[in-house]
Amino acid sequence: MNNFFNANLAEVDSIVAGAISDETNRQANGLELIASENFVSEAVLQAMGSVFTNKYAEGYPGKRYYGGCEFADVVEQLAIDRAKEIFGAEHANVQPHSGAQANMSVFLASLNHGDKILGMNLSHGGHLTHGHPMNFSGINFEVSDYGVSRETETIDYDELQRIAEEKRPKMIVCGASAYPRTIDFQRIGEIARSIGAIVMADIAHIAGLVAVGLHPSPVPHCEFVTTTTHKTLRGPRGGLIMCREESAKAIDKAVFPGVQGGPLVHIISAKAVAFGEALREDFKAYQQQVLDNAKVLAATLQTEGLRIVSGGTDNHLMLVDVFAGGKGITGKVAEKALDAVHITVNKNTIPFDTNSPFTASGIRLGTPALTTRGMKEDEMRTIGKLIAAILREPESEEVKTKVKNEVTELAAKFSLYAHRSAGKIGSISAG
Ligand SMILES: *Cc1c(COP(=O)(O)O)cnc(C)c1O
Repeated sequence: MNNFFNANLAEVDSIVAGAISDETNRQANGLELIASENFVSEAVLQAMGSVFTNKYAEGYPGKRYYGGCEFADVVEQLAIDRAKEIFGAEHANVQPHSGAQANMSVFLASLNHGDKILGMNLSHGGHLTHGHPMNFSGINFEVSDYGVSRETETIDYDELQRIAEEKRPKMIVCGASAYPRTIDFQRIGEIARSIGAIVMADIAHIAGLVAVGLHPSPVPHCEFVTTTTHKTLRGPRGGLIMCREESAKAIDKAVFPGVQGGPLVHIISAKAVAFGEALREDFKAYQQQVLDNAKVLAATLQTEGLRIVSGGTDNHLMLVDVFAGGKGITGKVAEKALDAVHITVNKNTIPFDTNSPFTASGIRLGTPALTTRGMKEDEMRTIGKLIAAILREPESEEVKTKVKNEVTELAAKFSLYAHRSAGKIGSISAG
């Protein structure tokens, strides 16, 4: 018997199987509050783990450089059609391996080396690929930046207009990784047109909200819209680009052969599945619950005495100023203390941070993953109080023990990939 095609991973490689098993348990036993993470459906996982990983399909549906692509064409065309339907876009490219590669492709399609771009300041919520000096965007283009106002901690559109008029960028980049408020894509589109610039809106974080109309869409106002597929959109890890018909050819050429080689057909098949899920009625209810949960979590933390950047949230995430003028702890300490009780968050700079990005004054919290597990307002109140208890006394072993027990109890009530936990996918624990 040929064991190569039939063996169980646990028998073939106990170390990898053990790590997968441990990770499955980690995800199930903790509370996942990283704003950029989510839990995909079993259907999405199965598509990702399919034999499409074996297939080379350079090119696009109906125009491939390889034979045997008829079924790759089925899933890619389906993913394209569903993406266009979800967002009302004229053209979609579903091949980008990640959000970063989606952005790189848009830059390659529309800019020349040395062109000017205007992006949101990273420490005000922007992303590395929007012009950070160590990223390809900052290395290849002349970057200026805009940010939030000191008073409101929300985007200062008048200032953005002023900088745009002064710097005359060829492209304005908007969208963010750590911005808790609604983004006015219409206003940014108007500013761009007033100076003859184009706009790339990167909705990596808020795509799920945009998909169901719970955040205004950039599609009517921006030449290019990019997103990841694995954050609020709840698909496999990957990227997506949307644009108008006039830019379709340039974008497709930029993704392949410009930036990438062969597409990840197994991931594209999983994107098709996830986009199908996003078109269902219950996806809207899910996104609404993500918003409701974020509001309750932010309000609970405020009641517990913590400062929320900009005073609240309009979307799935919030920034908590745990340092609050030097009276509190750093984001780094907060992240570590919460991790110890299995509450997973990330430290994050806040606007006008006085600490370095490595220590940071804030933590970023998001509700997409916990909402997928089925948690609602009551659980958010409980979790908000648990977080506040840890942040008040990050060194207290007594508080840690108490909170950790409550986290374990709460997590156990909301099962996650139950049939995938120890015994099935990888039964041997690495320790
Ligand atoms: C997450 C994110 C990206 C990058 O996505 P990757 O898939 O990690 O490359 C790009 N832009 C924004 C705004 C993001 O939040």
